[in-house]
Amino acid sequence: MPELRQNLVTKEWVIIATERAKRPDHYIERHKRTTTELSPPLDEHCPFCPGNEEVELELERLPPIGDWQTRVVRNRYPALSEEGEVIRSMNGMARRISGVGRHEIVVEHPIHNTTLALMEPKEIEIVLKAFYNRGWDMQKDHRIEQIIYFKNHGERAGASMRHPHCQIIGLPVVPNDIRHRVDEARRYFDDTGQCSLCVMLQEELTVQERIVSMSEHFVAFVLYAAPSPFHTWIVPRQHNVSFLYASPQELADLAIVLRDVLRQLYFGLHDPDLNFIIRTAPVSELSNDYLHWYVTVVPRLSRTAGFELGSGMFINPALPTESADYMRKVKI
Ligand SMILES: [Zn+2]
Ligand SMILES: [Zn+2]
Repeated sequence: MPELRQNLVTKEWVIIATERAKRPDHYIERHKRTTTELSPPLDEHCPFCPGNEEVELELERLPPIGDWQTRVVRNRYPALSEEGEVIRSMNGMARRISGVGRHEIVVEHPIHNTTLALMEPKEIEIVLKAFYNRGWDMQKDHRIEQIIYFKNHGERAGASMRHPHCQIIGLPVVPNDIRHRVDEARRYFDDTGQCSLCVMLQEELTVQERIVSMSEHFVAFVLYAAPSPFHTWIVPRQHNVSFLYASPQELADLAIVLRDVLRQLYFGLHDPDLNFIIRTAPVSELSNDYLHWYVTVVPRLSRTAGFELGSGMFINPALPTESADYMRKVKI
C-alpha cells in the first residue's frame, strides 16, 4: 500500500508510491546528449566568461586581487529594484509593496563548462564565502526581510545560462512558505522545548539508512518524507539560526559535503538538472532559539502537475532509503 509521510520540520505530507516505486537507476538522465563538462570551456557571447566581464555591474570579486575565481554582479535584469524605499499600500484587495530589494549573481568560476560538482572543495568554499559576504551586506539593508540563496542548474531547474552561477535575492517581505516554517518550528519548540531539526538529525544519525555524506560539522541525508526522488538536506550538526553565523571551519566543511552530494548526483544520474537552496532565518528572527538553517538539494527529475498545484502535496515515486543507498554507492 502507498504511504503518506509527514516531514517533522515543515509538517508537509507526501505520498511515497511504495508499490509503483521505480528503481533509482530509472532516474539516470540517459537522454541527455551533453553533460556540463562536454560543452565549450569558453563562450564568446557569455557575459560571465573572462574577457566579457560586465565591470559596471560588479560588486565583489574573490580573491580581491589577481585572477578572480568568483565574482558577484548585480543582475542586469533584476526581479527587484535596488533603489527606493519600501512603500506599502492597502486598498481593499489591492495590497502592494514597492518592488525594492536586491538581486545579485554569484559567478562561481571563470570556466564556462564547469559546475560545483566538478570543482575542488577550496573553490566551493570561495563560492560559499561570496554568499556569506553578500548575505552580511544585505542583512544590513533595513529594507530586506528575507535572503534567499539559490542555484538553478539546467533548464528544468530554471537556468537560462550555462555558465556556473548562483543567485541571491533580498526580499522586502517574508514569503508565506517561510513564515509557515517559522510558525511550525516555534510551535514544536513550545510543545517540546526542542528544535525539530535537531530531533530529525538525531533520528537520522541513529537510523543511518538515509545518510549520504557526513563530516565533522554536517550531515547530508535523503528525507524520510522526501517530496521528490533524491531530495536531500544538508544539516549543520551545530544548532544555529542562520547561515550567516556559520564559522569559517563550517563553511570549509560544508564545501566538502555539498560537493559530495552534488558529485553523487552528477555521476550517479548523469548530470541531472537541479536546484539547491540555503534555507536560513528571516532577518528579524536572528535571535530566536528554535530555527535551524540547512541546505536543500533537489534534482529536477519529475514534473509537478495538477495534483501538486491542487494539494501542495507531492507524490514521490522513489523510496528514500533506496535513493540514499544508490547515492552512497556512486563511485566519485
Ligand atoms: Zn561563460
Ligand atoms: Zn536545531
